[in-house]
Amino acid sequence: MSGSACHTSIGDEKHTVHWFRKGLRLHDNPSLKEGIKGAKTIRCVFVLDPWFAGSSSVGINKWRLFVIRGQPADALPKLFKEWGTTVLTFEEDPEPFGRVRDHNITALCNELGITVIQRVSHTLYHLEDIIERNGGKAPLTYNQFLAIIATMGPPPKPELPVYGWHNGAYTPLSDDHDDKYGVPTLEELGFDTEGSNPPTWLGGESESLARLERHLERKAWVASFGRPKMTPQSLLPSQTGLSPYLRFGCLSTRLFYYQLTDLYKKIKKAFPPLSLHGQLLWREFFYCAATKNSNFDKMLGNPICVQIPWDKNAAALAKWANGQTGFPWIDAIMTQLRQEGWIHHIARHAVACFLTRGDLWISWEEGMKVFEELLLDADWSVNAGTWMWLSCSSFFQQFFHCYCPVKFGRKADPNGDYIRKYLPILKNMPVQYIHEPWLAPEKIQQSAKCIIGKDYPLPMVNHTVACRINIQRMKQVYQQLKNYQIIENAKCERKEQDGNATVVMSDY
Ligand SMILES: Cc1cc2nc3c(=O)[nH]c(=O)nc-3n(C[C@H](O)[C@H](O)[C@H](O)COP(=O)(O)OP(=O)(O)OC[C@H]3O[C@@H](n4cnc5c(N)ncnc54)[C@H](O)[C@@H]3O)c2cc1C
Repeated sequence: MSGSACHTSIGDEKHTVHWFRKGLRLHDNPSLKEGIKGAKTIRCVFVLDPWFAGSSSVGINKWRLFVIRGQPADALPKLFKEWGTTVLTFEEDPEPFGRVRDHNITALCNELGITVIQRVSHTLYHLEDIIERNGGKAPLTYNQFLAIIATMGPPPKPELPVYGWHNGAYTPLSDDHDDKYGVPTLEELGFDTEGSNPPTWLGGESESLARLERHLERKAWVASFGRPKMTPQSLLPSQTGLSPYLRFGCLSTRLFYYQLTDLYKKIKKAFPPLSLHGQLLWREFFYCAATKNSNFDKMLGNPICVQIPWDKNAAALAKWANGQTGFPWIDAIMTQLRQEGWIHHIARHAVACFLTRGDLWISWEEGMKVFEELLLDADWSVNAGTWMWLSCSSFFQQFFHCYCPVKFGRKADPNGDYIRKYLPILKNMPVQYIHEPWLAPEKIQQSAKCIIGKDYPLPMVNHTVACRINIQRMKQVYQQLKNYQIIENAKCERKEQDGNATVVMSDY
């Protein structure tokens, strides 16, 4: 990549660079479409920011992609000069880090006389509109959120794909394209791939669309036959799990939303109830709560997060993260997460509760970081939001309900098939003891070829005791909060009397 200027811009010609970040797709990509319109050249770039390298995966695009390494603010302006770029397009990034980055690049483009076009397509709605309708603050309860969007009507429909779109724009390619801008291998990015398992998930837009079709078939089945029952099969890597594709934007949320709408119109022959879109709206809810809160993934300095004096315990955290707690249900889940990068929603509940308010009393921030590293669908807003939820740090406060790592596991995986798949050391343990192998008599441990305390760890805590203590600790935190809330409410009332107040604490 040369820093020297080599302008190809002639007169009023439009030379577009489309910057892929999330939104790795050609369907429902309004900013890309806008960029192509009337353009002479179109170059699609993906900037491999060293800040992200190592934890994120690079989407493979159908078009020739220019993969650039470096900080976007350094790398892009150099290329703009070299390519004579007149227009930069990208999907609006609603998360705080992305907003700052995009603000800076837009300022740079303004200096260079480059037109910037951003369009909303990662979320269903323009989140600012929701916030504006809520008096300038993100709604912090789901019902409040639903009430606001009910006043906004359905989200905009997805746009048609840009492939096959006749527009005359072409991508200028040089012979050394792959050397300069090729997609790097994992080894080139510094990963040691020796001995790693073959990936369980295929990336990309085509795969996401095929999965969407299967997902909708399953939804059709679900709609016709009632709510799905929890089975060990549903804990296994789902053929239809869409979250990683939504996270990287290989699949448009709006496309998913409208296909669901169509499906339910067909099946029920009636307008779909809002609840059928519930999962996607939860995603939207967390994005909305996070968009203006740059400390959303932290406890300190996060105005919506209850301040809880969590313990610091690196050894216990490592046992949890590496599936060595001695509770097979928890360890199987953490093993699946490490091996495959995806776990079921209820499995996320189980391990998040165990780490935080249930058993280990370790901060949700630590768990969130492990998920961030290992989950294929790790999504800054959703991950932090759900971790706060599960740990009763925000959005949810029913701390007197804790998941039992044995009973909950037994309900979801009664025969222990899921446990046996991910913890083969326990494969011969009889069903009766599979969730509590430490209770198995010595003879049974011997015949199962798994001595507890030697081949598989003893439970790291006594759940009944730990859970009771933690509920008491949480009670104290909430008691203090209540006292604080009374003071805050008094302040709010005074403010309201002044005619300019918004209630802050009542949402906890
Ligand atoms: C501690 C914890 C951490 C989580 N971290 C993430 C994360 O980083 N990224 C992520 O996408 N989901 C996260 N979730 C939410 C949820 O577990 C996953 O979205 C879901 O399991 C993905 O499977 P699916 O695509 O088959 O979901 P489906 O049931 O098919 O739902 C469709 C889509 O709706 C969205 N969705 C579903 N449930 C939720 C939810 N509770 N909150 C927000 N959005 C939801 C997802 O985008 C999902 O792909 C987390 C949940 C917990 C409890």
